[in-house]
Amino acid sequence: MLRKTRIAVIGAGLGGMTVAAFLQREGFEACIYEQAPAFSRIGAGIILSPNVAKVLRRLGLEDMLVAAGIKADCYISRAWDTGETLYRIDFDAATEAKYGGAYLNVHRGDLHAILDRGVKPGTIAFNHKLAAIEETGSALRLVFENGVKVEADIVIGADGLNSKVRESLFGAEPLRFFKAAALRTIFPASALNGFAIPDCTKWWAPDRHLLPYFLTSRRDEVYIIGVIPWERWDSDLSFLPSSRAFLQEAFAGFHDDLQKVIQAPTDVTLWPIFDRPRNDTWVKGRIALLGDACHPVPPYMGAGGAMAIEDGAILSRCLATYDSAEEAFAVYQHVRLDRVGHVQRISWENSWMRGPTDTDWFYQYDPCTAPLTPPEGPAS
Ligand SMILES: Cc1cc2nc3c(=O)[nH]c(=O)nc-3n(C[C@H](O)[C@H](O)[C@H](O)COP(=O)(O)OP(=O)(O)OC[C@H]3O[C@@H](n4cnc5c(N)ncnc54)[C@H](O)[C@@H]3O)c2cc1C
Repeated sequence: MLRKTRIAVIGAGLGGMTVAAFLQREGFEACIYEQAPAFSRIGAGIILSPNVAKVLRRLGLEDMLVAAGIKADCYISRAWDTGETLYRIDFDAATEAKYGGAYLNVHRGDLHAILDRGVKPGTIAFNHKLAAIEETGSALRLVFENGVKVEADIVIGADGLNSKVRESLFGAEPLRFFKAAALRTIFPASALNGFAIPDCTKWWAPDRHLLPYFLTSRRDEVYIIGVIPWERWDSDLSFLPSSRAFLQEAFAGFHDDLQKVIQAPTDVTLWPIFDRPRNDTWVKGRIALLGDACHPVPPYMGAGGAMAIEDGAILSRCLATYDSAEEAFAVYQHVRLDRVGHVQRISWENSWMRGPTDTDWFYQYDPCTAPLTPPEGPAS
């Protein structure tokens, strides 16, 4: 029985927290090892689509998310120059019933604090940066930079873009710079000086885009992410300081409605966008990867976090269903590859909701009930 195995999750990000929370509900002893000393509140928002809201409901976290964030009432795509509406989707009680969940925008810091409520107290060992994984024959030995060594039977690599667990499987492979960078800022809605904006808008130009959206149901906090072409990224830092002047320069010529928004922020940062070429091997022996550790994409569909959370739900179900890690991992990878492959393609194209778009396949999906179809054979 896998329930008696020691499961170590590396990384307390969106996927790691989700998989540990579900595993604990299934009776597993799952521990998380996180390199950071604590959760930090980075200045960024995140969109959680209905396929995510229904997962977090299973963990008893949905009400907290709704209280902390906002159920957006619409998403609008507009042309950068004319302001023409290219696509619009409205969210209300009827769409929530149809998709099985709400479309939520939330501050990432609030999301992390809420995910922390989904796991047992003491689950996360902070200040534990994984340095290496050694085979001991019967188990896997995790070696951390702080000198701690821990044995586990199963390791889940939820350690994001620069995954050390991935490196232990495939060797060191440098990230691919996507030749783009994201300007991010959060500011009080009062800085809009009374200019009214919809809950969520994406402004599209041929080589760049920008999304302003509200982060709270009081509509008192606005987040902007604007993506621009960027030739090289030489810094080792995960982001660099930027400025309102640079944001305005990067989006000069955009419609006047957008100019009224980008005059507001005071604190702007610049983030590189990295990904990796597609690699459909996510599991090996007693080690499985999830989220950005195995399928990072540019954040153009706003679905990378959603994929990590869905991975966590499916992987925990597979471990609860099958008697060996090998079987569980094979089914997990098989079930996820198609859907994640679609999301990878759409993210690389940057085509999601640019014009009329079928969103049902994405929003209606429920990883807590989707069939666990083995690579060959009937669904269980
Ligand atoms: C600019 C931008 C905007 C985005 N917007 C959205 C959005 O609106 N919606 C959406 O769904 N997605 C969005 N994404 C994507 C999303 O943030 C990622 O896909 C998601 O965070 C991946 O989750 P994860 O759990 O795989 O990894 P992460 O959330 O990155 O977590 C990895 C964790 O592992 C830890 N870690 C790393 N290495 C080690 C180690 N060696 N030892 C121990 N711990 C380690 C890290 O500290 C971190 O806590 C965006 C991404 C970017 C860059």
